[in-house]
Amino acid sequence: MTDFAPLLEDIEARLDGYRQRGLKMFATSSFQTNSVVLLHLLSRFGRDVPVIFLNTGFHFPETLAFRDDLAERFGLTIRAVASPIPRSQQRDASGRLLFASDPDYCCHLNKVLPMEPVLAENDVWINGVRASQSSVRKAMKVEQPAAHGTFRYHPLLGWDSQMVHQYLSDNDLPRHPLEAQGYFTVGCRPCTRKLDAEALYDERTGRWFGLKKTECGLHTDLGGSS
Ligand code: SF4
Repeated sequence: MTDFAPLLEDIEARLDGYRQRGLKMFATSSFQTNSVVLLHLLSRFGRDVPVIFLNTGFHFPETLAFRDDLAERFGLTIRAVASPIPRSQQRDASGRLLFASDPDYCCHLNKVLPMEPVLAENDVWINGVRASQSSVRKAMKVEQPAAHGTFRYHPLLGWDSQMVHQYLSDNDLPRHPLEAQGYFTVGCRPCTRKLDAEALYDERTGRWFGLKKTECGLHTDLGGSS
């Protein structure tokens, strides 16, 4: 069993330190079960931190409802941002939406581009990546430089899935409604599939299944890789 007290003290102290330095903070969240820990921590130590929701237009309705429920429950300010490129211009030469033929470019248009102005107006980007989720995330540091002169703070980097589930259980926190149906990681609808628990070989297996792609660009193109 993990003793969370020292971990939480460190998170609170860092957020206080950023405030004392006059740094502008924001967080991002995809509002799935794994996201609940960071959102709950913000409700305890960082209610002044706005939470950016990247509204790709491809989310499950259950995710949108979960987002609204968590925002109200935790008293958080959610700011939705969307791609500057209209959906009508997000098609390939055959007229298909890009997630089918070029998911990297689709993610760039819908996740990376909308973050540029957010980064330009802030100093600290807080997000809940964990090293155990993928090899890309394993190479990250708790604090590291990001685009537009910002830096990223990863308060949960050292947490494994057992710690996440213990924290959720200790605090009687809700889970994404689709988890019970076998969606262990939930992103955009076209790029998420449900899996048997036995089929999971890492925590992100259910995203972009069958492709080499494991990240959307937020944690690589915008300074997530070290
Ligand atoms: S996860 Fe899929 S639908 Fe969402 S932005 Fe990326 S490619 Fe497009």
